[in-house]
Amino acid sequence: MTKPHHPGHALRILDIKGNSLDDGPGIRSVVFFKGCPLSCVWCHNPESKKPGPEISFDRAECVGCDTCLGVCPEHALDRNLPFFIDRNRCVLCGACVESCPSGALAMVGKSMSVEDIATTVVKDKPFYINSGGGVTCSGGEPTLYMDFLSALLQRLKDEGIHTLLETCGLFDFKAVSQKILPYTDAIYYDIKIYDPDIHQRFCGVRNEMILENFVSLNAIASRNGLELLPRTPLIPNITAAKENLTAIAKFLSAQGIRQARLLGYNPLWHDKNAKLGLPDTLKQNPAMTAWMSKDELAACKAIYSDHGIKT
Ligand code: SF4
Ligand code: SF4
Repeated sequence: MTKPHHPGHALRILDIKGNSLDDGPGIRSVVFFKGCPLSCVWCHNPESKKPGPEISFDRAECVGCDTCLGVCPEHALDRNLPFFIDRNRCVLCGACVESCPSGALAMVGKSMSVEDIATTVVKDKPFYINSGGGVTCSGGEPTLYMDFLSALLQRLKDEGIHTLLETCGLFDFKAVSQKILPYTDAIYYDIKIYDPDIHQRFCGVRNEMILENFVSLNAIASRNGLELLPRTPLIPNITAAKENLTAIAKFLSAQGIRQARLLGYNPLWHDKNAKLGLPDTLKQNPAMTAWMSKDELAACKAIYSDHGIKT
């Protein structure tokens, strides 16, 4: 249950990326929310999983000056630890980040109000208008912060800016209908795994609500012109397994979907996991450390096209 949005309320936003060409039509700014109700083992934005602040350590940037070791009041830093920071001891005071001369230590995310975000992204309005672009709310999962998101989308629509929501689909449908849809032009909707048990195994939760919400949203989209694009990130032997893609394609086809997107696998998330000290059970798997080949991608796309869905 979310509280009504207060204009001064600030949220920890992971990042705002400008000039994006990958997150919807035209040139866009992407607002990355922090916090997600899923916990996918391959998450490509692992720094967006937890809602609160956290510290990252980039070993490649560390110059070995040991300044941080001297300022930590909790003695939470130790070169003998696999990820340098003992996160059970760390109280997130930020002293080490302040002292680090190289930027190897960083506090992830930044506290921002709706107005802070609007001020940042509205500056690029001429680029959005000229390119048919706009602002994309991504994550993490933006609908975790329903009232904040609603206020942000309203603010952007008041500016005449095209709005797009990227979502994992695990949300309260009634709240999204009332608070989000009136201010949203397009939704990119992730359907990762069709089987609920396998979904729970790899994403931490079952997916019945995700599939039901998609059906409900699609019924609305076909009536009122909302653009709804289902997407599946291709993870070798998991989401990209033939049985899974076939099951999703059948589900989408039964809903009258003729356009979807398959996102080719990239292995860069392993490094991000290490910076946050997160476990990485897939790192030893050779298929998980290589980029997906063109042939593998084409084979996945062929499954969708066999069901009448363009990708
Ligand atoms: S944030 Fe504070 S407690 Fe945590 S490692 Fe840095 S200095 Fe130590
Ligand atoms: S202060 Fe920064 S550069 Fe120096 S040892 Fe610590 S992490 Fe490395």
